[in-house]
Amino acid sequence: MSEKRDYYEILGVSRSATREEIKKAYRRMAMKYHPDRNPGDKEAEEKFKEAAEAYEVLSDDEKRRIYDQYGYDGLRGNTGFSGFSDLDDIFSTFSDIFGEAFFGGGYGGRSRGTRSSARRNRGRDLQITIKLTLEDMVNGIKGKKIKVKKKVKCPECGGSGGERETCPTCHGTGQVYRTMQSFFGTIHQATTCPTCHGTGYVIKKPCPVCHGTGLVDGEEIITVDIPPGVTEEMQMTLRGKGNAGPQGGINGDLIINFKEVRHESLHREGINLLYDLDISIPEAVLGTTKEIPTVEGTVKIKIAPGTESGKILRLRGKGIPAYGQDRRGDLLIKVRVFIPKNITKKEADIMRRLQDSESFKPKTKSFFDKLKDNLGL
Ligand SMILES: [Zn+2]
Ligand SMILES: [Zn+2]
Repeated sequence: MSEKRDYYEILGVSRSATREEIKKAYRRMAMKYHPDRNPGDKEAEEKFKEAAEAYEVLSDDEKRRIYDQYGYDGLRGNTGFSGFSDLDDIFSTFSDIFGEAFFGGGYGGRSRGTRSSARRNRGRDLQITIKLTLEDMVNGIKGKKIKVKKKVKCPECGGSGGERETCPTCHGTGQVYRTMQSFFGTIHQATTCPTCHGTGYVIKKPCPVCHGTGLVDGEEIITVDIPPGVTEEMQMTLRGKGNAGPQGGINGDLIINFKEVRHESLHREGINLLYDLDISIPEAVLGTTKEIPTVEGTVKIKIAPGTESGKILRLRGKGIPAYGQDRRGDLLIKVRVFIPKNITKKEADIMRRLQDSESFKPKTKSFFDKLKDNLGL
């Protein structure tokens, strides 16, 4: 099976070549056969791989010793070496040797997609905001329909933008090479083709409807399920539901933001809802029954006789669901005793009589009693 060429022969060096000579020889070969400089040339790619493999062996003292003694088969048995199969492996080695800066940092990390096929245009992401009432936030919305204005594929040209031809500047590779001087001599740096911006083609005859962009203004009705418990801090991303990509590119995403529609009396605080309940002095003293709004309609609650201003009553499970969890916050009712500013003479007389009454004299409470009151115990 050994139709493999001799590693020394591949790099064009003698069997006694120094490491420096080997490195130099490899650099020369790598530059010559680099796929970016020989787009679509299979033979060059093979030569490039071959040189990389030879360099990996001959630049490593141990591998070189085994190769010298036992040949290629010896390497396979002893070091687990199996040559390169993937160009990306070579590129990582390549940048190790020459440094990223050597080729402008492009080769080591660039994805193969960019190298082999022209870059595809991606449509812009689209942001929309959906207004949600507290009811929506508690229950979620199944199958909400939203009309989204966005760029869609041109119906005339099918999104292509018109008749295309291979870019005359880069011949379809999407890249051009800049020659510059460096420590190693003259090198060629790959950059995105300025004519086609990397797509590899130009529009020869632009579509009369979209003028070559492949896009027209349009709209789409999109159906989304909004789960219970979302907050204004959350976003939903619908992949591929944004603007269509120019000239047949891929769609951008649709990003949905949420805006809470203020409830007239309930205020959201995390998963809890807050409600301020104003009661009169007689109600606070004598006790009463009050109607409280909740997301599910009003409920009646009892205010115990002797309820102090600032007391917090709790309706368990009447808040907002915790997103993605099987629990719900509470509705917290803060009692505020209304103190009138203007009263009649008659009312003032009543108050003065109460003032002298023993029951109405403030009693100093212990810290723990106050705590118990505030916790609604
Ligand atoms: Zn081009
Ligand atoms: Zn068109």
